[in-house]
Amino acid sequence: MSVVPFASRSDSGPPALAEAVIAENFGARDGVLTVGGITVTDLTAAHGSPLYVYDGDVIVRRYRALVDALAGFADVYYSIKANPNPAVARLLVDAGAGLEIASGAELLLAEAAGAQPANILFAGPGKGERELDLAIARGIGEIHLECFEEIEMVAALAAAQGRIANIAIRINPSAAAQGGAMRMGGKPAAFGFDEEIIDDVLAAIAAKPSLHLSGLHLFAGTQILDAEVLLYQWNYGLKLAAEVGRKTGCPVARIDLGGGLGIPYHDGDKTLDLTAVAAGARRLDQERRTNPWLVGAQILIEPGRYLTGPAGVYLSTVRAVKTSRGQRFVIGDGGIHHHLAASGNLGQVIKRDYPIVAATRLSDRSCAPATVVGPLCTPLDTLGRQTALPDMASGDVVAILQSGAYGLSASPVGFLSHPMPAEVLVRGGEATLIRAAGDFGAPLVNPLS
Ligand SMILES: *Cc1c(COP(=O)(O)O)cnc(C)c1O
Repeated sequence: MSVVPFASRSDSGPPALAEAVIAENFGARDGVLTVGGITVTDLTAAHGSPLYVYDGDVIVRRYRALVDALAGFADVYYSIKANPNPAVARLLVDAGAGLEIASGAELLLAEAAGAQPANILFAGPGKGERELDLAIARGIGEIHLECFEEIEMVAALAAAQGRIANIAIRINPSAAAQGGAMRMGGKPAAFGFDEEIIDDVLAAIAAKPSLHLSGLHLFAGTQILDAEVLLYQWNYGLKLAAEVGRKTGCPVARIDLGGGLGIPYHDGDKTLDLTAVAAGARRLDQERRTNPWLVGAQILIEPGRYLTGPAGVYLSTVRAVKTSRGQRFVIGDGGIHHHLAASGNLGQVIKRDYPIVAATRLSDRSCAPATVVGPLCTPLDTLGRQTALPDMASGDVVAILQSGAYGLSASPVGFLSHPMPAEVLVRGGEATLIRAAGDFGAPLVNPLS
């Protein structure tokens, strides 16, 4: 599709960000949005609506671009909670990524995705005995310890299994980690150990023969769009790792600098500058190669959102369009039960619209504001507040872009007991069903129980 710069348009078309995302990752045929060359009307005809669709080629392309940008400096793991569908994770595992998990069930999903235990890392602030026991038994690459109880529990479980568990300590950086506008750490957090008590943590670990301290983990924030902020945090993580090596007399083998690479969601958001990230990573790499405490370490990052977010769309089919006291409401079959984040209720400080388009009327450029809502009986179920949409009618499809991360699995799928949507993965122009749509009130299944 031809993309007209927002500023030069005489009419009021879809938001500029939506047009940019479509131009980069998707396409259009006869005014209908396509994913991997397949129209969304064909996809919803085959798999129903509402529907999640992910373009696997976009995911792999983003992974490779990030790997290239960090070549020689850091490996790229995938934080599976961003999109835990095993078929999505498998694309990244097959492309070479390790996986970062945060629950026992995610460990099973990681295995279903084909990940080798050695390439799996386990983080999270309150891990349970059963999931830790499973992780130790599987011999995963590293368990990240975040509290003294976990030191005790992992040590006891590993000893009972006659194993030595590879562990990393997760550090919540001190206020000293703040530099100008680049605020990180210094705040109370449930995650990790405060940097101020690092000596006590090292002593507690050294007293446990069933624990092997192999790594250091630092993850200060999500949705970072500024390369300098990211690089500042990475630099801080390297300094901390060198310090831990000096204190223990043994360099850490693995330095996990966290995820947090952001993607634009709202008009005016900038895009993370991968070229600047790459240049900064080269500088950090040169420095660390001259530092005996860092030179032999594996460095890694563990993004989630950055890899899968832009590859996904959530499709909602319009059921009704009504005007209430002058305001237009577009009522679709998709809502916050599948896509909480798009409503602004998943940690966003300010509720602003995701990029939303009329996927069956992309050529219709005379747009006016509409409120896009779902079928749930609550005003929370609002996906778009001032969405620029053309005339819409029942049967039209609305697409919410940037929806490949923190979508379905981060949503209250049991709320109002609507069916689970299907998920479809498109690769090389072929659509594959990777989750069947659910029944009404389908119970949630915990793979651990
Ligand atoms: C959620 C999470 C990530 C991924 O965060 P993104 O912002 O999606 O990159 C990485 N590491 C840990 C420990 C996490 O909890």
